Amino acid sequence: MVYIVTGGAGFIGSNFIRYLRRQQPDSMIVCFDKMTYAADLAHLEGIMSGDRFDFVRGDICDRDAVYSAFLKYHPDYLINFAAESHVDRSINSAEQFCQSNFYGVSVLLDACVKYGIKRYHQVSTDEVYGDIPLDSPLSFTEEAPLRPGNPYSATKAGADMLVLSYRHTYGLDITISRCTNNYGPMQDAEKLIPRMISNILDNKKLPVYGTGNNIRDWIFVEDHCAAVLDIVLKGCAGGIYNVSADHPVTNLDLVRMLCDMTSYPADRIEFVPDRKGHDLKYSIDCSRLKTELGWEPKVSFDDGIRETLKWYKDNI
Ligand code: NAD
Repeated sequence: MVYIVTGGAGFIGSNFIRYLRRQQPDSMIVCFDKMTYAADLAHLEGIMSGDRFDFVRGDICDRDAVYSAFLKYHPDYLINFAAESHVDRSINSAEQFCQSNFYGVSVLLDACVKYGIKRYHQVSTDEVYGDIPLDSPLSFTEEAPLRPGNPYSATKAGADMLVLSYRHTYGLDITISRCTNNYGPMQDAEKLIPRMISNILDNKKLPVYGTGNNIRDWIFVEDHCAAVLDIVLKGCAGGIYNVSADHPVTNLDLVRMLCDMTSYPADRIEFVPDRKGHDLKYSIDCSRLKTELGWEPKVSFDDGIRETLKWYKDNI
């Protein structure tokens, strides 16, 4: 099998390539990545030099580059992780998010229609459903309407609609996964958990937005990667699958826990002005993934956070 993994030099994409390599030592893997600030080829160390792996530096918005990759590799599967992924940056300017997260997806889909593919998989996010009140017991299923609350999630929701439209219009075989917040090794330090760990290791203050009561649901990145591969190989055509390890926690409790684990004084926590339009709480129901495909998360939050802490200490 030949897999093109777009955005494969970023956080989740590189973890996915490592996971895929372990699961399928004989498959050809092509990492196609523009190498933005969030990418790092060091994440693919040991894989880059191996057999049956190629790296292409390219932008998914560049039609010639994408079509050339299709002509060269004849992929069976394309798994799209490529995106601008940081909400704060999308609030500063949505332009690059519209390009990469929406227009770029249209180029990938056009290539799939033009050259053929077994399956296109879009890596989406639980943020497309929008938020719910902090005390709400609601969880969104895959049928819930999309109600994104920031420019990042709006571009991701737009991409999901585009992907579904290519299924309806061209009969393209597609799947979509909508996952909660990931953590684990190799995440850019702009995101909450690596930011706090880096600040702890650098003996700095720990900035927390607003009151810190916003709730996020956390999943260890490798559990997400396993879900994506299950969906790609066993999911139904046109299927949308929520992915969650069901570990909701407030941002403040999360930072306090990191302080506890590192014996860092919690009085270094500093409340800073809230993010504009800060979504309160995300919550999704992933029983479809569990019942249809038998996926279960394997890594407990404690173990995952310990492994993440160790990785940042070793790679400071
Ligand atoms: P990341 O920012 O760490 O990595 C994104 C990668 O995409 C980088 O390697 C970057 O160079 C590449 N890229 C960006 N624009 C590109 C373009 N135009 N052409 C080619 N490559 C491009 O992001 P991540 O956290 O690894 O997220 C990967 C995917 O998973 C994204 O689609 C994101 O929306 C989704 N997702 C992330 C989370 C999370 O918690 N991080 C949760 C759910 C879904």
